[in-house]
Amino acid sequence: MEILKPLQKNGYNTQTFQSSNLSKELSIELNRCGANEYTKVSFPVKYGIFSKLETCDYIFEFNLNHEIRHARSKKRTWLHPSEWLKRTMGNDWVYYSTGGYSGVFEALGEYYLPNLTYPTNSLLGGKPFEESGIDDIVKNWHQIIAQLPDTGMPDEFSRWIQSIRQQSPEGLQKKAQQLFDISGSRVTVMPPDARHVDYNIIPLNISDGCLYKCRFCKVKNKKEFSIRSKRDIDNQITRLKRLYSKDIVNFNAIFLGEHDALNAPCELILKTVQDAYDAFNFQSSYMTKTFLFMFGSVASFLNADKILFETLNRSPFQTFINLGLESYDQATLDLLGKPLTRKQVGQAFEKIQAINDTFPNIEITCNFVMDESLPDSHYEALMTLIRESVNRPKPKGCIYLSPLKFGSPSRQVLYDFYKLKALSRFPTFLYMIQRL
Ligand code: SF4
Repeated sequence: MEILKPLQKNGYNTQTFQSSNLSKELSIELNRCGANEYTKVSFPVKYGIFSKLETCDYIFEFNLNHEIRHARSKKRTWLHPSEWLKRTMGNDWVYYSTGGYSGVFEALGEYYLPNLTYPTNSLLGGKPFEESGIDDIVKNWHQIIAQLPDTGMPDEFSRWIQSIRQQSPEGLQKKAQQLFDISGSRVTVMPPDARHVDYNIIPLNISDGCLYKCRFCKVKNKKEFSIRSKRDIDNQITRLKRLYSKDIVNFNAIFLGEHDALNAPCELILKTVQDAYDAFNFQSSYMTKTFLFMFGSVASFLNADKILFETLNRSPFQTFINLGLESYDQATLDLLGKPLTRKQVGQAFEKIQAINDTFPNIEITCNFVMDESLPDSHYEALMTLIRESVNRPKPKGCIYLSPLKFGSPSRQVLYDFYKLKALSRFPTFLYMIQRL
């Protein structure tokens, strides 16, 4: 793979307009330049180039395709001035809450907690979508912007207002469906490491299905593991480029799907990431650095050749590969219906450490399950890996603990998580399952 150095380019012209009519306060900022590097800070940061519309009651932000991407209310009914709504490429609204800043960072590794509208395994958060201020924006944002004046301002602003109005909720839902159609299915689960880019990933499937079809898993599908043809992948890249269109300049991350992309041939993985890098023009992305995310399995990881890691390490990508190990206890693996042996899990964990210690641009992370119903032997075995296997704290190789149950936050499981985290010698966080 050729080594390409990212260049930063910003040919965007920021323009602002402020209405002088006090009864209809309105300000517009076109092509505002937000932060160009993902950071972890305890105040809201907006990334990329976007346009902002502010009225006396609301702040809306739009991407370079004129599609709404963030919103918040300035009314008293809004829960917290530092919290906001984000609309994803899959057309979900996600409410980012501070959680009072208590424990969110410790639990997730991020300062903000994404609250979702669909069932997940989250142990934190309330029900913000039941709040009137949030519900108001989710249901009425388009009507609100439809009522704004689009005259009495310079042409470029009035044309911009007309353009954002054309991106209706129905149109955005259709576009999300087009995204799912490109690969043939929705991304039902993103790797936990995608948090490093606020889940702003371009999904590209090089394979389908997974090897194990574990009994406990709620995100699996019925597809037998199979590999996509080069032609199919090229076709996805072309269509993704068209779909992300002008806003692609705000992206710097790909997710190679589906549930075990690491089981695809090494050449296919390397060729795909290079082709995607070139086609999506990542070297000119507004965002610095480039990220690659994928899932792997114990088998695909143990089979993966050194050459794959060596080449990825030299590539422009910061690579994160997430493996579902689930347990280092045979009784628990059997209970979960995960067709692996304790020995294989141990070998994978050992290889993870070797890769993480050798390659600075690659991080292999792994998941283990948590639930009140699991035997003590599961937690005892986990300790031998995440505490006793190393004699000092490790800076990388995140351990994600994934609650088994959906829609059932449990104080006990949260308490157990904090206990495990305190004992772990690896960065340890909760895995909150999110779709794209
Ligand atoms: S945990 Fe991974 S390997 Fe097991 S069924 Fe789910 S997606 Fe497949």
